[in-house]
Amino acid sequence: MSERRHILLISGGKDSTALALYMRDKYPERDVEYLFCDTHKELRETYDYLARIEAFLEKPITRLAAGHGERGFDHFLKVFGDYLPAPSMRWCTKKMKIEPFESYVGDDPVDLYVGIRADERREGYISTKPNIRPVFPFKEDGITKTDVFRILDQSGVGVPEYYEWRTRSGCYFCFFQQKIEWVGLMEKHPDLFELAKGYEKPDQGFTWIQGESLEALAQPDRVEQIKQETAKRRAAAKAGRKPRSLAEAFGAQPDDADDDAVGCLICHL
Ligand code: SF4
Repeated sequence: MSERRHILLISGGKDSTALALYMRDKYPERDVEYLFCDTHKELRETYDYLARIEAFLEKPITRLAAGHGERGFDHFLKVFGDYLPAPSMRWCTKKMKIEPFESYVGDDPVDLYVGIRADERREGYISTKPNIRPVFPFKEDGITKTDVFRILDQSGVGVPEYYEWRTRSGCYFCFFQQKIEWVGLMEKHPDLFELAKGYEKPDQGFTWIQGESLEALAQPDRVEQIKQETAKRRAAAKAGRKPRSLAEAFGAQPDDADDDAVGCLICHL
Protein backbone atom coordinates (compact mmCIF):
# COMPACT_ATOMS: atom_id res chain seq x y z
CA MET A 1 0.00 0.00 0.00
CA SER A 2 1.33 3.47 -0.85
CA GLU A 3 2.39 5.88 1.84
CA ARG A 4 -0.26 8.35 3.04
CA ARG A 5 -0.10 11.63 1.12
CA HIS A 6 -0.73 15.02 2.68
CA ILE A 7 -2.64 17.37 0.40
CA LEU A 8 -3.88 20.92 0.79
CA LEU A 9 -6.13 22.44 -1.83
CA ILE A 10 -5.32 26.11 -2.26
CA SER A 11 -8.18 28.19 -3.64
CA GLY A 12 -6.46 31.57 -3.74
CA GLY A 13 -8.57 32.66 -0.77
CA LYS A 14 -7.49 33.68 2.71
CA ASP A 15 -8.34 30.52 4.68
CA SER A 16 -6.58 27.93 2.56
CA THR A 17 -3.57 30.24 2.26
CA ALA A 18 -3.39 30.75 6.02
CA LEU A 19 -3.75 26.99 6.50
CA ALA A 20 -0.80 26.33 4.19
CA LEU A 21 1.35 28.71 6.24
CA TYR A 22 0.05 27.28 9.50
CA MET A 23 0.79 23.67 8.46
CA ARG A 24 4.24 24.61 7.20
CA ASP A 25 5.12 26.15 10.57
CA LYS A 26 3.42 23.55 12.75
CA TYR A 27 4.51 20.43 10.87
CA PRO A 28 7.70 21.38 9.00
CA GLU A 29 8.59 17.69 8.66
CA ARG A 30 5.37 16.91 6.76
CA ASP A 31 5.67 16.83 2.99
CA VAL A 32 2.46 18.66 2.11
CA GLU A 33 1.44 18.83 -1.56
CA TYR A 34 -0.31 22.03 -2.59
CA LEU A 35 -2.89 21.84 -5.35
CA PHE A 36 -4.94 24.42 -7.20
CA CYS A 37 -7.84 23.29 -9.40
CA ASP A 38 -7.64 25.80 -12.21
CA THR A 39 -10.87 26.60 -14.03
CA HIS A 40 -9.01 29.21 -16.10
CA LYS A 41 -11.87 31.55 -15.20
CA GLU A 42 -10.27 33.07 -12.13
CA LEU A 43 -9.39 36.70 -11.64
CA ARG A 44 -5.91 37.90 -12.51
CA GLU A 45 -5.53 38.85 -8.83
CA THR A 46 -5.99 35.22 -7.81
CA TYR A 47 -3.23 34.03 -10.15
CA ASP A 48 -0.97 36.80 -8.82
CA TYR A 49 -1.74 35.75 -5.25
CA LEU A 50 -0.91 32.11 -6.04
CA ALA A 51 2.51 33.16 -7.28
CA ARG A 52 2.98 35.13 -4.06
CA ILE A 53 1.96 32.15 -1.91
CA GLU A 54 4.41 29.92 -3.78
CA ALA A 55 7.21 32.39 -3.11
CA PHE A 56 6.43 32.42 0.62
CA LEU A 57 6.00 28.65 0.87
CA GLU A 58 9.09 28.14 -1.26
CA LYS A 59 7.26 25.28 -2.89
CA PRO A 60 5.25 24.99 -6.10
CA ILE A 61 1.49 24.76 -6.16
CA THR A 62 0.47 22.09 -8.65
CA ARG A 63 -2.19 23.32 -11.05
CA LEU A 64 -4.74 20.68 -11.93
CA ALA A 65 -5.52 21.70 -15.44
CA ALA A 66 -8.60 19.62 -16.19
CA GLY A 67 -10.74 22.73 -16.25
CA HIS A 68 -9.54 24.25 -19.48
CA GLY A 69 -9.29 23.70 -23.19
CA GLU A 70 -11.57 21.11 -24.68
CA ARG A 71 -13.00 20.09 -21.35
CA GLY A 72 -13.18 23.46 -19.65
CA PHE A 73 -16.19 25.48 -18.50
CA ASP A 74 -17.45 26.17 -22.02
CA HIS A 75 -17.36 22.49 -22.92
CA PHE A 76 -19.32 21.51 -19.81
CA LEU A 77 -21.80 24.34 -20.31
CA LYS A 78 -22.73 22.76 -23.65
CA VAL A 79 -22.94 19.32 -22.04
CA PHE A 80 -25.36 20.76 -19.46
CA GLY A 81 -27.57 22.27 -22.17
CA ASP A 82 -26.49 25.89 -21.53
CA TYR A 83 -27.78 25.72 -17.96
CA LEU A 84 -25.59 28.08 -16.01
CA PRO A 85 -24.43 26.49 -12.77
CA ALA A 86 -26.28 27.64 -9.66
CA PRO A 87 -26.15 26.86 -5.93
CA SER A 88 -28.69 24.08 -6.46
CA MET A 89 -26.95 22.72 -9.56
CA ARG A 90 -23.28 23.16 -9.02
CA TRP A 91 -21.94 21.09 -11.88
CA CYS A 92 -18.97 23.44 -12.23
CA THR A 93 -17.46 22.42 -8.88
CA LYS A 94 -18.01 18.76 -9.58
CA LYS A 95 -16.62 18.78 -13.10
CA MET A 96 -13.83 21.34 -12.75
CA LYS A 97 -12.67 20.83 -9.18
CA ILE A 98 -13.77 17.63 -7.45
CA GLU A 99 -13.38 15.20 -10.34
CA PRO A 100 -9.91 16.46 -11.41
CA PHE A 101 -8.79 16.36 -7.78
CA GLU A 102 -10.10 12.85 -7.15
CA SER A 103 -8.61 11.58 -10.35
CA TYR A 104 -5.23 13.16 -9.50
CA VAL A 105 -5.23 11.42 -6.13
CA GLY A 106 -6.37 8.07 -7.50
CA ASP A 107 -6.48 5.34 -4.88
CA ASP A 108 -3.63 6.66 -2.75
CA PRO A 109 -4.45 7.14 0.92
CA VAL A 110 -4.66 10.88 1.48
CA ASP A 111 -5.04 13.30 4.38
CA LEU A 112 -6.77 16.30 2.85
CA TYR A 113 -6.30 19.44 4.94
CA VAL A 114 -9.33 21.71 4.85
CA GLY A 115 -9.24 25.34 6.02
CA ILE A 116 -12.63 25.53 7.72
CA ARG A 117 -12.20 27.63 10.86
CA ALA A 118 -13.34 27.06 14.40
CA ASP A 119 -15.79 29.97 14.12
CA GLU A 120 -17.60 28.54 11.09
CA ARG A 121 -20.67 26.35 11.00
CA ARG A 122 -20.23 24.89 7.55
CA GLU A 123 -19.12 21.44 6.59
CA GLY A 124 -16.16 20.91 4.31
CA TYR A 125 -15.68 18.91 1.18
CA ILE A 126 -16.98 15.49 2.03
CA SER A 127 -15.17 12.91 0.03
CA THR A 128 -17.07 10.01 -1.38
CA LYS A 129 -13.78 8.17 -1.76
CA PRO A 130 -12.79 6.13 1.27
CA ASN A 131 -9.06 6.72 0.67
CA ILE A 132 -9.45 10.50 1.17
CA ARG A 133 -9.64 11.51 4.82
CA PRO A 134 -10.55 15.18 5.44
CA VAL A 135 -8.64 16.82 8.29
CA PHE A 136 -9.65 20.18 9.83
CA PRO A 137 -6.61 21.65 11.63
CA PHE A 138 -8.21 25.08 12.20
CA LYS A 139 -11.29 23.53 13.78
CA GLU A 140 -9.17 21.20 15.90
CA ASP A 141 -6.91 24.03 17.09
CA GLY A 142 -9.60 26.69 17.61
CA ILE A 143 -8.30 28.99 14.85
CA THR A 144 -10.77 31.78 14.03
CA LYS A 145 -11.06 34.47 11.36
CA THR A 146 -9.03 36.91 13.48
CA ASP A 147 -6.24 34.31 13.71
CA VAL A 148 -6.35 33.80 9.93
CA PHE A 149 -5.80 37.52 9.31
CA ARG A 150 -3.01 37.50 11.90
CA ILE A 151 -1.28 34.54 10.20
CA LEU A 152 -1.48 36.25 6.80
CA ASP A 153 -0.29 39.54 8.21
CA GLN A 154 2.58 38.16 10.28
CA SER A 155 3.82 35.94 7.46
CA GLY A 156 3.94 38.91 5.10
CA VAL A 157 1.71 37.22 2.51
CA GLY A 158 -1.23 39.53 3.25
CA VAL A 159 -4.63 39.21 1.61
CA PRO A 160 -5.31 38.96 -2.13
CA GLU A 161 -5.77 42.24 -3.99
CA TYR A 162 -9.40 41.41 -4.85
CA TYR A 163 -10.32 41.69 -1.14
CA GLU A 164 -10.84 45.41 -1.74
CA TRP A 165 -14.08 44.62 -3.51
CA ARG A 166 -14.78 40.89 -3.30
CA THR A 167 -14.72 38.47 -0.38
CA ARG A 168 -13.97 35.22 -2.15
CA SER A 169 -11.72 33.63 -4.70
CA GLY A 170 -13.28 31.60 -7.51
CA CYS A 171 -14.42 32.13 -11.07
CA TYR A 172 -15.03 35.75 -12.07
CA PHE A 173 -18.65 34.87 -12.85
CA CYS A 174 -19.25 32.84 -9.71
CA PHE A 175 -22.96 32.86 -8.91
CA PHE A 176 -22.14 32.90 -5.21
CA GLN A 177 -20.92 36.47 -5.41
CA GLN A 178 -22.94 39.26 -3.85
CA LYS A 179 -24.61 41.90 -6.01
CA ILE A 180 -22.17 44.50 -4.80
CA GLU A 181 -19.37 42.20 -5.97
CA TRP A 182 -20.92 42.03 -9.43
CA VAL A 183 -20.81 45.83 -9.36
CA GLY A 184 -17.17 45.54 -8.29
CA LEU A 185 -16.46 43.22 -11.21
CA MET A 186 -18.09 45.68 -13.60
CA GLU A 187 -15.99 48.55 -12.28
CA LYS A 188 -12.66 46.71 -11.83
CA HIS A 189 -12.84 44.27 -14.73
CA PRO A 190 -15.35 45.57 -17.28
CA ASP A 191 -14.05 43.08 -19.85
CA LEU A 192 -14.80 40.13 -17.55
CA PHE A 193 -18.20 41.58 -16.68
CA GLU A 194 -19.01 41.68 -20.40
CA LEU A 195 -17.85 38.07 -20.79
CA ALA A 196 -20.05 37.03 -17.86
CA LYS A 197 -22.96 38.88 -19.46
CA GLY A 198 -22.33 36.99 -22.69
CA TYR A 199 -23.14 33.68 -20.97
CA GLU A 200 -26.63 34.83 -19.98
CA LYS A 201 -29.83 34.18 -21.91
CA PRO A 202 -32.35 36.16 -19.90
CA ASP A 203 -35.24 35.34 -22.28
CA GLN A 204 -34.73 31.65 -21.39
CA GLY A 205 -34.21 32.38 -17.70
CA PHE A 206 -30.46 31.66 -17.81
CA THR A 207 -28.94 34.37 -15.62
CA TRP A 208 -26.19 34.26 -13.00
CA ILE A 209 -28.40 35.96 -10.42
CA GLN A 210 -31.84 34.52 -10.00
CA GLY A 211 -34.41 36.91 -11.45
CA GLU A 212 -32.00 39.64 -12.55
CA SER A 213 -29.80 39.83 -15.61
CA LEU A 214 -26.40 41.50 -15.54
CA GLU A 215 -27.72 43.88 -18.17
CA ALA A 216 -30.36 45.04 -15.68
CA LEU A 217 -27.91 45.13 -12.79
CA ALA A 218 -25.53 47.33 -14.78
CA GLN A 219 -28.05 50.17 -15.17
CA PRO A 220 -26.79 53.29 -13.33
CA ASP A 221 -29.90 53.60 -11.11
CA ARG A 222 -29.66 49.96 -10.11
CA VAL A 223 -25.93 50.24 -9.37
CA GLU A 224 -26.60 53.25 -7.16
CA GLN A 225 -29.38 51.40 -5.37
CA ILE A 226 -27.14 48.36 -4.72
CA LYS A 227 -24.39 50.60 -3.38
CA GLN A 228 -26.75 52.45 -1.06
CA GLU A 229 -28.38 49.28 0.24
CA THR A 230 -24.98 47.71 0.86
CA ALA A 231 -23.73 50.78 2.72
CA LYS A 232 -26.86 50.77 4.91
CA ARG A 233 -26.54 47.10 5.75
CA ARG A 234 -22.87 47.38 6.51
CA ALA A 235 -23.52 50.31 8.82
CA ALA A 236 -26.28 48.33 10.54
CA ALA A 237 -24.02 45.29 10.89
CA LYS A 238 -21.28 47.47 12.34
CA ALA A 239 -23.68 48.97 14.83
CA GLY A 240 -24.78 45.45 15.71
CA ARG A 241 -28.44 46.10 15.02
CA LYS A 242 -30.97 43.85 13.34
CA PRO A 243 -32.59 44.98 10.04
CA ARG A 244 -35.33 47.55 10.80
CA SER A 245 -37.75 46.47 8.13
CA LEU A 246 -38.75 43.40 6.23
CA ALA A 247 -37.49 45.03 3.04
CA GLU A 248 -34.12 45.59 4.66
CA ALA A 249 -34.06 42.03 5.94
CA PHE A 250 -34.99 40.53 2.59
CA GLY A 251 -32.72 42.91 0.78
CA ALA A 252 -29.95 41.72 3.01
CA GLN A 253 -30.10 38.16 1.86
CA PRO A 254 -28.00 38.14 -1.24
CA ASP A 255 -25.80 41.12 -0.55
CA ASP A 256 -25.20 40.85 3.13
CA ALA A 257 -23.82 37.35 2.96
CA ASP A 258 -20.60 37.17 4.83
CA ASP A 259 -17.92 35.10 3.18
CA ASP A 260 -18.60 32.37 5.72
CA ALA A 261 -22.30 32.13 5.13
CA VAL A 262 -22.43 30.79 1.62
CA GLY A 263 -20.02 29.77 -1.01
CA CYS A 264 -18.43 26.85 -2.62
CA LEU A 265 -16.28 25.07 -0.08
CA ILE A 266 -13.80 23.65 -2.48
CA CYS A 267 -13.59 26.94 -4.39
CA HIS A 268 -13.73 29.63 -1.76
CA LEU A 269 -11.71 28.62 1.25
S1 SF4 B 1 -15.94 29.40 -8.12
FE1 SF4 B 1 -18.16 29.38 -8.36
S2 SF4 B 1 -18.49 29.20 -10.59
FE2 SF4 B 1 -16.36 28.61 -10.19
S3 SF4 B 1 -16.38 26.39 -9.94
FE3 SF4 B 1 -16.62 27.27 -7.89
S4 SF4 B 1 -18.84 27.42 -7.53
FE4 SF4 B 1 -18.50 27.14 -9.74
